[in-house]
Amino acid sequence: MTKYIPTIGVECHVQLCTKTKLFSEVDNDARLKQPNSCVSPVDYGLPGMLPRLNGEAIKFAIRAGLALNAKINLESRFDRKHYYYPDLPKGYQITQMFHPIIGEGYVELPNGHKVRIEHAHLEEDAGKSSHESSYSLVDLNRAGTPLVEIVSQPDIHSAAEARDYAKELWRVMTYAGVTYGDLYNGNMRFDVNISVAPEDSTELGTRTEMKNLNSFRSVERAVEYEIKRQTKLLEKGEAVIQETRGWNEATGETTGQRSKEDAKDYRYMPEPDIPPICLDSADVEAEAANLPKMPSWYRQKFNNVLSQDLVEVLLDYPNLMAKLAELEGNQAATKKVANLFSSVLLAEENTSLLNDKLPTKEQLITLVEMNDNNELSSTATKEVFIKFFDPEMHYKETRTIAKELSVIQENDLGALEEIVNTVLEKPETQKAQSDFRAGQEKVLGFLVGQVMKESKGKANPSAVQKILREKLR
Ligand code: MN
Repeated sequence: MTKYIPTIGVECHVQLCTKTKLFSEVDNDARLKQPNSCVSPVDYGLPGMLPRLNGEAIKFAIRAGLALNAKINLESRFDRKHYYYPDLPKGYQITQMFHPIIGEGYVELPNGHKVRIEHAHLEEDAGKSSHESSYSLVDLNRAGTPLVEIVSQPDIHSAAEARDYAKELWRVMTYAGVTYGDLYNGNMRFDVNISVAPEDSTELGTRTEMKNLNSFRSVERAVEYEIKRQTKLLEKGEAVIQETRGWNEATGETTGQRSKEDAKDYRYMPEPDIPPICLDSADVEAEAANLPKMPSWYRQKFNNVLSQDLVEVLLDYPNLMAKLAELEGNQAATKKVANLFSSVLLAEENTSLLNDKLPTKEQLITLVEMNDNNELSSTATKEVFIKFFDPEMHYKETRTIAKELSVIQENDLGALEEIVNTVLEKPETQKAQSDFRAGQEKVLGFLVGQVMKESKGKANPSAVQKILREKLR
């Protein structure tokens, strides 16, 4: 039977987190704001209003391009893309159709596979329509928000890889600091096009497109569904129709929406109200100097120190990665702190702490040292660690916190021996002692427990065990 190979390309719209909009001076952060409260006459498209380009958006676009390992085009231009819709009051979108600011680049997936970027361009977002039963509502808070649209080459060949690419784009853009990356609120939206073709074919098959997917999971599921649907059609000898299809999250299916015949003619024309963007290489270098470390940098840095799975989990939290990188060179400490992050901080009951200030490098290193020296058991280490996030405690030194919690283990052998002697003199331990001497290993646990109790939990259990063994020989 013929094997069919899927080929997938992704276009991703990223909302930039600039202070103001792309062409007007109103607040670009509409979170928690009333609908239509962050809208200027420019965004309403009122007659006579002129757009003024936001310099911060250009900087963010450069930074996004650098994060995509892409060439920055020193000259780029805007065009008008015409279509009529209630959430686009001007009747056209200002975009970069012919001369985008970001040229060819690539994104490297965790498995090392590179997905090439064809280009990426700056454009404005439209408003948001919501359709009720007998009427529709339009919110223009989002109209004029700067977007970078990232267009990939068709370098993706499975649903899982499409998901990985979407996720890596999200990581790269959030690490670069150009977007809030809030997927729930549509900060990143994925358009996915898919075709399948027989393995030995030299041409790609007919493709379909699914627009505005807003989660990694829906990208994966939609692609999976479409690959199956198209493969089935081809196996039956039927043709795939080139069309835009809608993804239904609830049913897990795609349905036909708009075929190529009614594809729009956008009547592109150069935007006359905005001059071309002319950069010089110093503008690009300045952004390169400010570019935060990227996920691939962390992957490489922790390659031989942490497991790949642990790195991938922690990569979802840029501040944790940055903190780990501060422990530079101290591999053992990096390992222990990474494990505390994943086992304590990312535990369901503690995820709220992620928004808090992280412990200092000094606090963490002392914590690891105290654990290494058996001054803190692993349980006590976790107890102290969690106090780093306690508003009453977080500013204190590690040792002070451990003392206040009275969890520092007694390691002084002389002191421990005294406690052991006290316990061995007690009548209730006599039977256990003779049982142990008679070869019953398991009663040692009971005796260690008695010593721990006597020390109020501060004795180091392995040291106690050693002393007991010597004394009961
Ligand atoms: Mn677009």
